[in-house]
Amino acid sequence: MAKILDGNKREAISEAASLTKRGGVVAFPTETVYGLGADAFNPPAVAKVFKLKNRPRFDPLIVHISDPSQVESLCLPPGKEARALMEHFWPGPLTLVLPKRPEVPDIVTSGLKSVAVRLPSHPVARALIQEAQCPIAAPSANPFGYLSPTTAQHVEAQLGDRIDIILDGGPCQVGVESTIVAFGEGEVLVLRPGGIPVEEIERVVGKVKIATAAPKQPQSPGQLPRHYSPRTTLKILTNGETGYYSAEEGTGLKAGLLAFRGPVEGNFAMVRVLSPSGDLEEAAANLFTALHQLDSAGLDIILAEAVPEQGIGRAIMDRLRRASK
Ligand code: AMP
Ligand code: MG
Repeated sequence: MAKILDGNKREAISEAASLTKRGGVVAFPTETVYGLGADAFNPPAVAKVFKLKNRPRFDPLIVHISDPSQVESLCLPPGKEARALMEHFWPGPLTLVLPKRPEVPDIVTSGLKSVAVRLPSHPVARALIQEAQCPIAAPSANPFGYLSPTTAQHVEAQLGDRIDIILDGGPCQVGVESTIVAFGEGEVLVLRPGGIPVEEIERVVGKVKIATAAPKQPQSPGQLPRHYSPRTTLKILTNGETGYYSAEEGTGLKAGLLAFRGPVEGNFAMVRVLSPSGDLEEAAANLFTALHQLDSAGLDIILAEAVPEQGIGRAIMDRLRRASK
């Protein structure tokens, strides 16, 4: 069973960093979700990450750094827009897809000529990367396709019997994955909505193009239609749909409700309200914990209220749509 170590303790960081240096795998907190990390320049270590998660090898990993200067070891010199985005949003929940250096192992990028890079703001993540003295390739610390972990306990429940160390840094403050941005011919492309709202990115680089969530040929495997999913069937209640319960009434189904702000009417087996004050950032921070709780309650169906599709609400709706596929 994995040891859960207090990520705020120096000894914990040393132990986790030393395991990383020796080619091991460590679960650690970031401000978005918990990651499952390995030395990005150690292909057998990265292979373990894919195996532990049951993640298909075609789904490339995000490489996490602790200092902007490490970009040079991974990517060719970034262009003007990429540099502007780094300056504005790093450290933070923004991942940039950039042309890679040949030294970056193919297993990290699934053979692509680009690499996804992020400088997280979480102090435990940064301390780990710094002490391990290598960029850390890390997807979320969950079995592939399932709900993302936003607490050390989520990681323990999902992967605890398969890994050695979980660094505990408390609940993730952003709670949804990073926004992924790529750069095309004269255009900035958002591959996945996430912790940094599209509106804020546009304030820095002008109009961006948003990739469709489920193209035939995903440019970004985060674009797989079903992802971030509970085991229980999830249905999104479309705006204006009234009498949630009546939708399932008479069917005998045991329904749970994921409400945005409440108050809640109707008779549900379980209710989770994401933000009583209607704050989208609070809702994002609570999203995966609420879904984990609803998914563990033995329900037949989870009904999820739509949230306003603005700011980080876009990322919430993206995750709910994929959870409902
Ligand atoms: P996860 O770490 O599970 O949140 O997912 C990381 C996501 O980053 C992948 O699913 C891809 O969508 C995206 N990604 C990583 N590397 C690349 C790349 N080189 N090009 C495009 N997307 C990438
Ligand atoms: Mg993931």
